[in-house]
Amino acid sequence: MDDRMFRNAMGQFATGVTVITTAIDDEVHGMTANAFMSVSLSPKLISVSIDDRAQMKEKINQSGKFSVSILSEKQQEMSMYFAGQIKEKRDIDFKWVNGIPVLKDSLANIICNVYASHQAGDHTLYIGEVIDLQLVEGTPLAFYKGKYGKIVS
Ligand code: FAD
Repeated sequence: MDDRMFRNAMGQFATGVTVITTAIDDEVHGMTANAFMSVSLSPKLISVSIDDRAQMKEKINQSGKFSVSILSEKQQEMSMYFAGQIKEKRDIDFKWVNGIPVLKDSLANIICNVYASHQAGDHTLYIGEVIDLQLVEGTPLAFYKGKYGKIVS
């Protein structure tokens, strides 16, 4: 099986889009991720999968904390920016919750301590224990077959 076929098959799974953030000594790092899922209700756990080449991996290993901001349809540019697809550096005004930075105007901010991490091939699965949550109403940004979209209800 070649890589393209694997990617195409995974691309058939429509997802939302998140930006993961963490901080070391007040220095914030963010990256876009759609490999996110809810894991457990008791305790409250979520998971993200991070490429071993991403700077985020070392940052989370150091901080032991991260947050997941679920993007609204109005935040496609934030997704592109934190995926490195918009090159010019921006000054992002993060909000701080429980000592962890989150992206403003997201549909949900999920603040976590690292509960466990598992190396899985060329990615690391981080399981986060949710210590705080913020929610607002809105329409999510969607990602499907490598393109952005929105949910029509
Ligand atoms: P960098 O590439 O260094 O940073 C990303 C960008 O954010 C850079 O432009 C950087 O300047 C900027 N930035 C970071 N922190 C700040 C800050 N504090 N202030 C201002 N700017 C800042 N990869 C995965 O591993 N897992 C996934 O689930 C995943 N899903 C993706 C889903 C989508 C829709 C897309 C488009 C990409 C996805 N990626 C995923 C790829 C991932 O987003 C990129 O490879 C990303 O560049 C890796 O981030 P990095 O930690 O190496 O940081």
